[in-house]
Amino acid sequence: MDRVAVLALDGLGRFAWNLWKGEMPYLVSLHARNSITLRSVMPSITPVNFATMVTGTDLAGHGIQAKQDDFACETLFDVVREGGGTSAGVGLDGYTGCALLGRCADILGNAGAVSDDAVADTVIEIADRAQPEFMIAQFGTVDDVFHQHGPSNPLVVPMLKGTDARMLRLVEHLKPLGYGIVILADHGQHDVTEFADEGILGIHGTDSPEDCLVPCTWL
Ligand SMILES: [Zn+2]
Repeated sequence: MDRVAVLALDGLGRFAWNLWKGEMPYLVSLHARNSITLRSVMPSITPVNFATMVTGTDLAGHGIQAKQDDFACETLFDVVREGGGTSAGVGLDGYTGCALLGRCADILGNAGAVSDDAVADTVIEIADRAQPEFMIAQFGTVDDVFHQHGPSNPLVVPMLKGTDARMLRLVEHLKPLGYGIVILADHGQHDVTEFADEGILGIHGTDSPEDCLVPCTWL
């Protein structure tokens, strides 16, 4: 295997996975073969944990608290570059996948402002055109929808069904190009009531199992 793609479903923790995996038959089929639970580093927020994925260290080591920060240590992007390969970071416009990972990778995949389908389209376009040795993509709508409805709300199901179909589409496209694929999350979410006035019913950032434990599969 020559290439690796990391597909990160932002906010899809084990709490929501256990509630809704019946709606995600493709991901269930992957987890039936390879499945582990990972724990987020603290704080359980997006830039910190994506930075951990590409460095193997925590906030004290990588120095990324916010997406505009610069890495304080070597990254996988550096390692791939030094080995003569190329890398790509993909996400929605202004999101961590784009503004942090894309900025530090060789190829910046800006999927625009609309949807995770555009993130998938951008991953496929870059894979076809450049076949980078390392790709990492953030599917940010997952986290957005959990924030909006709360992870245990059935209103998240259409988004999760779309996510499952999107992962199938990506795997079917990337596998023939020689990619090993990892599907995981940066953190989870828990339900919350006190911010309902602001339109927020899901949140994360704490050291609770709901926020920190995330499913991971690979093929
Ligand atoms: Zn979030």
